[in-house]
Amino acid sequence: MKYFVLIPDGAADEPQDSLGGKSPLEYASIPTLDRLATQGMVGLTNHVPDSFNPGSEVACMSLMGYDPLTYFTGRAPLEAAAKGISLGPEDWAVRCNLVTIEDQGDGPVMVDFTADHIATPEATELLETAQQGLAKDFPDLKGWEFVPGVSYRNLLLFRGNVGGHCDLGDGLRTTAPHDRVNQLISDAFPRGTGSRLLTEIMEHSETWLKDHAVNRSRKSKGLGIATHVWLWGAGQRPAFRTFKSLYGVQGTMITAVDLLRGLAELAGWRCREVEGATGYLDTDYAAKGQAAIDEFSESDLVCVHVEAPDEAGHEGNALAKVKALEEIDEKIVAPVISHLEQQASNGEPYRVFVCPDHPTFCSTRMHSRGLVPFIIAGIGVDGMSAQSYDEKAVAIGPTITQGSTLIGTLFDDAEGQLNPDTVN
Ligand SMILES: [Zn+2]
Repeated sequence: MKYFVLIPDGAADEPQDSLGGKSPLEYASIPTLDRLATQGMVGLTNHVPDSFNPGSEVACMSLMGYDPLTYFTGRAPLEAAAKGISLGPEDWAVRCNLVTIEDQGDGPVMVDFTADHIATPEATELLETAQQGLAKDFPDLKGWEFVPGVSYRNLLLFRGNVGGHCDLGDGLRTTAPHDRVNQLISDAFPRGTGSRLLTEIMEHSETWLKDHAVNRSRKSKGLGIATHVWLWGAGQRPAFRTFKSLYGVQGTMITAVDLLRGLAELAGWRCREVEGATGYLDTDYAAKGQAAIDEFSESDLVCVHVEAPDEAGHEGNALAKVKALEEIDEKIVAPVISHLEQQASNGEPYRVFVCPDHPTFCSTRMHSRGLVPFIIAGIGVDGMSAQSYDEKAVAIGPTITQGSTLIGTLFDDAEGQLNPDTVN
């Protein structure tokens, strides 16, 4: 049996005035997804437990079959995994943005959570200086290191194997800098277990970065500067069991997004990189489709994650979301299904799971909590004769409140019938 999983990130949405009262999924011409919906089982599900913000790191974890309430420890550990950094049992990973904070009279404001999309070599230089500042201002600290990433997205690690000490704990609460854009940040500093050190590092970073050559040069070019490091998303290594040990199936992930690479790494999946996959609206859809087809010779399960519908949602552009969905249907789903049908005629059956991680509303330009439409189709799956693949049409099926259970039903009774009644 082969399994194809498609994650159209942020595809679920509301009816749009600009689309004649239809949602992007309803409006888009997506004949292959519509056919899968008609032939398969459909319904609605939720990948974001109430206690979490609706982020892709939580929702995609759930979609891959790992309940965030059990497995989610923070965003930074997933990003560390994506970089191939393995965390030891004592270690912590903290997400470290380079940001622009300005006092505009009423107090400090988060002007830019990307430090004007600072270039990677500049960020690397600033973090070298921050590392020196850490050694100078906190001479007793051991085991803390800044790890440059891409642009403003960097990490601060605590390595427990060098005899240092770390006060961070489960009660630590931090604030994502992109949630405070153009807002006062006086109350947004880390709180709870071990937060004091993180806050002190953030405060000291102002003096480390202030007159740095990188910032002087950016200023002279009229670019925004990195005034501070912002620490958030801290966590320890999540205790993932491999997907194969849970479900008996080897997976491959195809994505342009680091968080998904990290999840795949922790689940023990292969990661297949695709040239031209950008994580944006201009991604090479056909190359991703072809890569998926190729990967079926390596893995029994191939998951294609496409970020473009989410990006269109963040831009508030319903027509761009429609276009992204149409590209996904034509250039990824159609060729993959036609390949799988050909293999099926040679005796290798298949099943398909299609599900967005969370809605991204064009109206608010933000992720939202709420239900997303799914399809499970293929051999042994009783069809429900849904009219099409969209939020309204799939409502004829069940509502699965705990989305992390859904992928497991793909592997239920792989020889025989998969029946909607067995799903709850
Ligand atoms: Zn998003």
